[in-house]
Amino acid sequence: MRRDFLRTLFSRMLATYLTVTLGLILIVGVTVVALFQGQLRTEMNAQLVRELQQVNEIVSSNAESAGLPGDADSLLGWLARQSGNMIEMYAPDGTRQTYFSESKWGSAAARGLSEETRADCLSKTEPSAVSNLFDGLLDFPTVSLGARMLTADGTEALVFLHRDDSAAKRMADAAWMEVLLVLLIAILFSVIAVYYTTSRMTKPFMEISDIVQRYSKGDFNIRIPISGTDEATQLARSFNNMADQLKDLEATRRSFVANVSHELRSPLTSMRGFLEAMQDGTIGREEYDKYIDIVLSETRRMTSMVNDLLDLARIESGTTAIKLEIFDINELIRRTLITFEARIYDHKMEVEVKFAQEQYYVEADNAQISQVLRNLIDNAIKYSPMNSKLRIATYALRKEVYVSIQDSGQGIPEEDVPHVFDRFYKVEKAHTPTKQSGTGLGLSIVKRIIDQHGQTITLKSVKGKGSNFTFTLKRAPSPNRRQPMQDGGAKYGIQ
Ligand code: ADP
Repeated sequence: MRRDFLRTLFSRMLATYLTVTLGLILIVGVTVVALFQGQLRTEMNAQLVRELQQVNEIVSSNAESAGLPGDADSLLGWLARQSGNMIEMYAPDGTRQTYFSESKWGSAAARGLSEETRADCLSKTEPSAVSNLFDGLLDFPTVSLGARMLTADGTEALVFLHRDDSAAKRMADAAWMEVLLVLLIAILFSVIAVYYTTSRMTKPFMEISDIVQRYSKGDFNIRIPISGTDEATQLARSFNNMADQLKDLEATRRSFVANVSHELRSPLTSMRGFLEAMQDGTIGREEYDKYIDIVLSETRRMTSMVNDLLDLARIESGTTAIKLEIFDINELIRRTLITFEARIYDHKMEVEVKFAQEQYYVEADNAQISQVLRNLIDNAIKYSPMNSKLRIATYALRKEVYVSIQDSGQGIPEEDVPHVFDRFYKVEKAHTPTKQSGTGLGLSIVKRIIDQHGQTITLKSVKGKGSNFTFTLKRAPSPNRRQPMQDGGAKYGIQ
């Protein structure tokens, strides 16, 4: 609990504030009080010296110059009463006289100073005040000043002036109390200021934290309110963007699962229906071939869908990093067309291939571009009637090579054009499978491959007149030119 408290922003800021504020106040306070105490002591000592001078005037019978009337003895008594101090006078023969008015001096007056203390006090060249000569005897602090004086009869006497120092101590204590009070006020203000600041600082973060908790539970509808321009607002904006993206992602995921389930359930249901009907005799043996054909075509469609899904998942997860190489796109088109030869023949299609240049070298992933060509040519054949025309052309503009695949088939309605690259999007909405119906994944695979290459694909289509898919590839310098004839041939070339 205590550890947790120390981890909060409030406690950390409070600790910093207090350290800085209290540290500064202490340094300033100690300096000021020390200066004040020094000043006070200097003044009080000066006062003591003045009083001792008065005593000196009296003792040397020069009372008038001290402005005091009467004989020395009664004058010293009067002086002691006036100041509340104690005056001690030691004659050379050791006899001692004390003058004091307040009973508090009683025990000190009775004992006097030892010879050693007296000698000690007087040994200094400059008379200086000595503290607490009567330690243990008196319950208040004292300051004493001693001096040798010549009496009126010419003998030398030792005179000590003792003053009650409790007033000075009280003043110093009061100064310390002031510092303490300032410290307490500073602590109070620090706590209030830090509490106010941190609660204002942490409030938006707490709000963000609450809302993010709801995101983690799948509720992406709520947004963090944006106000002001501070760091919390920036964070709130980032979280709101993240929520938008997560919401889209979640919607895509849901529709993806729904689509996959639907695409699998329909053929499975129909296959089961046919097989059960065959089993219970509803479908006669003479019709078996027809239904086995249907079941086979459905399983082929499912297999192709699963393969497409796997391709898509691989491309999207980025596990198939594109392997860039330089190859001739015209050659790849020729080879791909050869694989469609039988279907083109069956469809009685007229194929027109137009390359603006004999070879177009591009930098791309050969296998993936081959898949793009296969999907586009497959669609062009699939969605075109018999005896239609397929035109394939390549040409270059600036740094790009354009590959265009045009058919004169059924075309795509205008409203469907923006969606054909979406996953599972099929123009013909009827879900009764026909021989030509696909999975709606082919074009989304094409789009992702072209996107991964940093290139573009465009579609122009007029319903009933045909479609034209054109994609770009990065043009590469001919390897024959880059690597002049070596070892009797080019590294890349048409085989
Ligand atoms: P599918 O496996 O269904 O062919 P695609 O993603 O390749 O999936 O195509 C999506 C939809 O776009 C198809 O269902 C089809 O209706 C339409 N389409 C694609 N290519 C053509 C084309 N060349 N001519 C007409 N329609 C096409």
